[in-house]
Amino acid sequence: MDSARMPTSPPDDVRTTAPRSRALATEAVHAGRDDLARQGLHAPPIDLSTTYPSYDSRGEAARIDAFAATGADPDGPPVYGRLGNPTVARFETALARLEGTEAAVAFASGMAALSAVLLVRGSMGLRHVVAVRPLYGCSDHLLTAGLLGSEVTWTDPAGIADALRPDTGLVMVESPANPTLAELDLPAVAHACGSVPLLADNTFATPVLQRPAEQGARLVLHSATKYLGGHGDVMAGVVACDEEFAGRLRQVRFATGGVLHPLAGYLLLRGLATLPVRVRAASATAAELARRLAADPRVARVHYPRIGGAMVSFEVHGDPHEVIGRVRLITPAVSLGSVDTLIQHPASISHRIVDADDRRGAGVSDRLLRLSVGLEDAEDLWADLDGALGERAEAIPLREALARTE
Ligand SMILES: *Cc1c(COP(=O)(O)O)cnc(C)c1O
Repeated sequence: MDSARMPTSPPDDVRTTAPRSRALATEAVHAGRDDLARQGLHAPPIDLSTTYPSYDSRGEAARIDAFAATGADPDGPPVYGRLGNPTVARFETALARLEGTEAAVAFASGMAALSAVLLVRGSMGLRHVVAVRPLYGCSDHLLTAGLLGSEVTWTDPAGIADALRPDTGLVMVESPANPTLAELDLPAVAHACGSVPLLADNTFATPVLQRPAEQGARLVLHSATKYLGGHGDVMAGVVACDEEFAGRLRQVRFATGGVLHPLAGYLLLRGLATLPVRVRAASATAAELARRLAADPRVARVHYPRIGGAMVSFEVHGDPHEVIGRVRLITPAVSLGSVDTLIQHPASISHRIVDADDRRGAGVSDRLLRLSVGLEDAEDLWADLDGALGERAEAIPLREALARTE
């Protein structure tokens, strides 16, 4: 390259730092953007092309053949939007770096990502899935209903090894789990899986708090709709994994069409830049709220993971629906991981689709509320929660006493 004609290019030695040596906070800001300065760009370009013109149809045939063989990202232009997209690829590169995997493959939603994993394994004749409850409600439903032809065996972590069959294609867990925040010993679970791929849904922890691939998970799933996007305005899913599995996932994505829109890819890449800061700030507030909830007589039980995080679940003595109806600053809504604090009642919404007995058996009590703590001031959030929890238990006898004297 003639650097005299490229005044924006950095000297050749500028990028000599091996990417693997960079800390997570640095990767979050720079991964997927390493080529930008050389191109004289600062913000990543958004490529909205659905097709890519080429006068060389022999070359196109070769690229399609190569993709059909390995599922590797095509060299050069992607041919067609369902094979790949350069803006989405930036997000995939960045997320793979954060999770410490070779590759990542993005989808239109977290459920599309999980579906692609099940289709990859099912197409190999490995239709049996071993899973540990609780999982996110729709993940539970997808497996229980066998919508994609899979068959599930539910077990506790200690039962995984015994539940494996010759046709077991996947072991699926969440840690911390949605919505109880139950945690698993991931290395022990991975060991129990033997050669069967372990899928860990890392939506709640994010790579800021936990990198399951380093603990033996072959597949790391995210509902990127949550913390990765981080602002409640993009729906997406992603699987971080080795390049071999990523190739299979790209082939399934191409064949079934659950692609991520390039604008969503752009927003996710932007979201990743602030992920470590957002997760750490919200986690500090969540830990404080968990402490206050645990000390509050109106609260029966608080669930907060050992690894921390911005999710808090708690069971109230009173009616959980009343609490939802009384929040004012906190948004009563399903989903999580946004800059604003959300609260919802899992038995009514996120886990409604799970059979009530299975749900309760997994520890999802009817009195459980799930709080996704955002970036608001902790005192403001506590004031809202305090009001929403209603009268303090010790105040009730006084009120009753007053009523009786009237
Ligand atoms: C939301 C969620 C999903 C599903 O993701 P979508 O983007 O809504 O399809 C999967 N796993 C967990 C833990 C979730 O919270």
